[in-house]
Amino acid sequence: MKIVKLETFTNQYVGFVRATAEDGSQGWGQVSTYHADITCEVFHRQVAPYALGTNALDFADTIQRIYEKEHKFPGSYLRRAQTGLDTALWDLRGKVEGKPVASLIGGSPGKVRAYASSMKRDITPEDEAARFLKLRDKHGFTAFKWRVGAECGRDQDEWPGRTEAVVPVVSKALGDGVDKLVDGNSCYSPKRAIEVGKLLEDNGIGHFEEPCPYWNYDQTAEVRAALNIDVAGGEQDNELSSWQLMIEHKSVDILQPDVMYLGGIHRTLEVCRMGAAAGLPITPHAANLGLVTMCTMHLLRAIPNPGKYLEFSIEGLDYYPWQDGLFLGNPYDIVDGHATVTDAPGWGVEINPEWLMKSAYKVSEIG
Ligand SMILES: [Mg+2]
Repeated sequence: MKIVKLETFTNQYVGFVRATAEDGSQGWGQVSTYHADITCEVFHRQVAPYALGTNALDFADTIQRIYEKEHKFPGSYLRRAQTGLDTALWDLRGKVEGKPVASLIGGSPGKVRAYASSMKRDITPEDEAARFLKLRDKHGFTAFKWRVGAECGRDQDEWPGRTEAVVPVVSKALGDGVDKLVDGNSCYSPKRAIEVGKLLEDNGIGHFEEPCPYWNYDQTAEVRAALNIDVAGGEQDNELSSWQLMIEHKSVDILQPDVMYLGGIHRTLEVCRMGAAAGLPITPHAANLGLVTMCTMHLLRAIPNPGKYLEFSIEGLDYYPWQDGLFLGNPYDIVDGHATVTDAPGWGVEINPEWLMKSAYKVSEIG
């Protein structure tokens, strides 16, 4: 069954893709967030031409073919654009077969334990602790992640002393029996990361994410070797060769692919297989409530080496105004600390027609 039409609906932040097959069946996917308008241009120039006319239900080779045809363009934008094709075709196949994507890739619908993930650094330790406790009481979260250092901060803190304060204040407020994670977002040199890591160990934090500039696999490996807690990373990495290096250098204890940065489910499954072969768990990166979190939920229900939880952004419209009104209903209800993959076909979400009406439209189709 051939793909005959590929449409994009986008603004600057979010771009949805609708794939149509020759029998009229359709599926919805999304390119990765941010500069989505540019990504959709890449989609129509460098992805759609190779996909039109190919098999809508069996497309692993199409994804690889695009990579080969556009081999002069390694890197982020093409992967982000390919994700739109991959995720739309998984949804289409799910709708054709009447199955959720989780089932198509070897898993099943059901619950996924979530951790509450803060994106904020401009928040005081006391305010961060207070909102975590509210979320714990309202949604039953049993795991939380907050931020230390400054993003790509060259050893500087968001403000002097914030990290030394936010680690114990939030950890004590959460108390025992809760999983505690922090994210350095490429802040530290190995020396400083190890100092911060000791502070984390003393305060019961079990997961130290992206301690050093993520492209320095040896630096991250040095930190991992020096600490007893788990070091995690990989959210930015979109070339399989990078994952190979990361694994070979023993940089991390936990792999964190982002389904949408990496190029979709097919490529993410490949990273999950690489992780499984190395005995490493997968705790994907999913930092907003666009489609990425739903794709990640389906993935975690299917792979043999899932990490302990789903990343679940707790930020509202003050931080992510563009998340407003993307879907009909709420596909992201957290009950007792868990999100749920339903048995609805495909991704099990409906894109909001009102949002689509306000977006910029473009189509590629078989003439
Ligand atoms: Mg991170």
